[in-house]
Amino acid sequence: MSQTLNVAVLPGDGIGPEVTREALRVLRAAARWRECELNLSSYAVGGNALDRYGVPLPEATRQACQAADAVLLGAIGGPKWDSNTGDLRCEAALLGLRKLLGVYANLRPVYVHSALAARSPLGQDRVAGADILIVRELTGGIYFGAPRALRLQGTKRLGLNTMVYTEEEVARIARVAFTWARRRSGHVTSVDKANVLECSQLWRTVVGEVHAEEFPDVTLSHLYVDNAAMQLVLHPRAFDVILTGNLFGDILSDLAATLPGSLGLLPSASVGATVGLFEPVHGSAPDIVGQGRANPIGAILSAAMMLETLSEEAAARQVRRAVNLTLDQGIVTPDLGGTASTTTVGEAICEVAFGRHPAHAI
Ligand code: NAD
Repeated sequence: MSQTLNVAVLPGDGIGPEVTREALRVLRAAARWRECELNLSSYAVGGNALDRYGVPLPEATRQACQAADAVLLGAIGGPKWDSNTGDLRCEAALLGLRKLLGVYANLRPVYVHSALAARSPLGQDRVAGADILIVRELTGGIYFGAPRALRLQGTKRLGLNTMVYTEEEVARIARVAFTWARRRSGHVTSVDKANVLECSQLWRTVVGEVHAEEFPDVTLSHLYVDNAAMQLVLHPRAFDVILTGNLFGDILSDLAATLPGSLGLLPSASVGATVGLFEPVHGSAPDIVGQGRANPIGAILSAAMMLETLSEEAAARQVRRAVNLTLDQGIVTPDLGGTASTTTVGEAICEVAFGRHPAHAI
């Protein structure tokens, strides 16, 4: 027995439970393959938590996430709760979880598999083989800066937010990006708006210092965010690791998500403190819920990122290899032009990676 893994599972709303079920199938098989003990417990989050407990992130969920080795999330939200405001929005659960777990680094790998490149809206020649890791700062910047306000100033309305980064916040996310670049192709592109924002000037200076002092073997370039958006569309293969702040990362990672042709393929990991949060990039997709059409690959690759973070790299490699083989074989859901169901794709990946195993309800 190599280790015991305690995972808090938050299936969420819409297709969240459907894709999470397939990620769990793969996790269980990986644990058996590695002879790990895997403890899974499921908790409410988002809309289903609002319906049952009146809040999107109940105390029991918070405690379970803090006590776990890792958190696996499906997706949250849906039309029933979209008009909620303030702390009763489903998104408040996501921001609350990130803050609670102190996960300051959001990792979004975007890989364009050759079999799918033709489906990309940007064209096959441009995107085939693109392999990017976006490292986004997640707990600072303008999303959390104070003061913030929406109020009256005299008789006129005023909206106010503050973009703020300390040098410690910049240095720690820069170290994450440089460390990942060493495991990949060895290049970091840092994205900012240093021609306009003082906050970005500090960002650029500190990233340069961390690079010179600790990672001189990695190459570093800087781009302004407007140019970065254009280059991502024109030359996605020119990027390896993209390092950026909270606001720019939010926008660029959604832009990059268009490269492979379906949101359903993309995983993410939010890490930094002791407990990581792993979730597919997509939302709850109310338009396809309950139809067996949801692509589970984003959730399954999120589980692979969890395995890697918990030092189960061999199992993570098996999962990635199986995903690629399954895509090669054309066993894909309708978003990728196939006819396979969510379960069929999950079973196929599981079987290629670890042999045949049944799914269990949790
Ligand atoms: P969405 O990601 O749910 O869906 C966008 C489109 O992509 C839809 O056509 C959907 O069918 C498709 N899609 C998404 N995931 C797919 C998958 N795995 N397989 C196949 N197709 C997939 O975004 P949306 O429609 O803007 O939002 C729907 C709800 O999800 C909203 O309530 C929103 O607030 C919420 N949301 C949650 C998260 C999250 O939980 N992290 C992220 C984004 C949106």
